[in-house]
Amino acid sequence: MVKRDRMIREFCELVSIDSLSFDEREMADTLIDKLAKMGLKAQEDDTAVKIGGNTGNIISKLKGKENIPSILLMAHMDTVNPGIGKKPRIIEDIIKSDGTTVLGSDDIAGVECILESIRVIKEKNLDHGDIYVVFTVAEEVGLLGAKNLDIQNINAQFGFVMDNGGEIGCVAISAPTQNTFDIKISGKAAHAGVEPEKGISAIQIASEAISKMKLGRIDNETTANIGVIKGGEATNIVCESVEIKAEARSRNNEKLHVQSEHMKKCFEESAHKYGGKVIFTKESLYPAFFIDETDDIISILKIAAKESGVELKLEATGGGSDTNIINSKGIKSVDISIGMDKIHSVDEQIKIDDMVKATEFLIAIIDSVKKIKKV
Ligand code: ZN
Ligand code: CA
Repeated sequence: MVKRDRMIREFCELVSIDSLSFDEREMADTLIDKLAKMGLKAQEDDTAVKIGGNTGNIISKLKGKENIPSILLMAHMDTVNPGIGKKPRIIEDIIKSDGTTVLGSDDIAGVECILESIRVIKEKNLDHGDIYVVFTVAEEVGLLGAKNLDIQNINAQFGFVMDNGGEIGCVAISAPTQNTFDIKISGKAAHAGVEPEKGISAIQIASEAISKMKLGRIDNETTANIGVIKGGEATNIVCESVEIKAEARSRNNEKLHVQSEHMKKCFEESAHKYGGKVIFTKESLYPAFFIDETDDIISILKIAAKESGVELKLEATGGGSDTNIINSKGIKSVDISIGMDKIHSVDEQIKIDDMVKATEFLIAIIDSVKKIKKV
């Protein structure tokens, strides 16, 4: 059984620890200690040096039965600003901060759900496969912990990330990837009335490129947009340079690549035609993930929802989380709601009932894995 009081006490203890991104040391040490008391030996990877923080990802494993698929449970240890001196307040069924900081339920509620579920499955002696518990660092500053996590040693068939908002039962099974583009077009200035033939118009290059570009809704999972265009000095000067900001998104990494290359090519061809130059800079924020509804991980969620009396809502999310990274590294993963609300604000709060329910759902998930074939 999930012990509500134990969860409240431990959650309040944990959020009272300062744990900003790059400074998760005390949180990690506390968690290593708690895992040890449950019989899980934790290791810390070398992410701290790689990202310039004081803490690495914490990786531990609860050994399970050979014939049951192995899983990964994950949450992040860092919290956002203002996050120094967090003081949890319990008001009836809700935990809030004192109004001067965030609460830190993002993502310490996820950490707490995992800790409690491990305790319960040990107390109840439930059958399970190997369970990897990973607490990452620096999620809030670009998913840096997950990006640097070496999953060679994490031999998990499915991953459950506890870092989603919404009602309990909301599970993100897809998230888009986003590319942003910075485009600098250079032509050549000349007097527009006296010798226009000596000039190269960056505006003309840009407009011809854009007129040939596929934009807007490209297909049911891909969009593209030119958002900003700036350039030009005066009507009597052939425009020398134009700067453009654009983006493309897709839930399909391959389609995103095709669209990005298409946009780049339109600019390059047009620049070439008029004798100008283009510098096309692409920044990739995170890779997309998409779980098919016929996948085994969805079966696990469905069985677990039924067992724990949770209404399952499979959803596509618009943002990125550690889940994007873990999927891209090859562990099929979903992001599960822990009930955190109004995150990244001093009004952040969580219902105790929701945290308990999310834990019951997670325990049911761990318990349902044995019904799936190990591969
Ligand atoms: Zn989070
Ligand atoms: Ca967050």
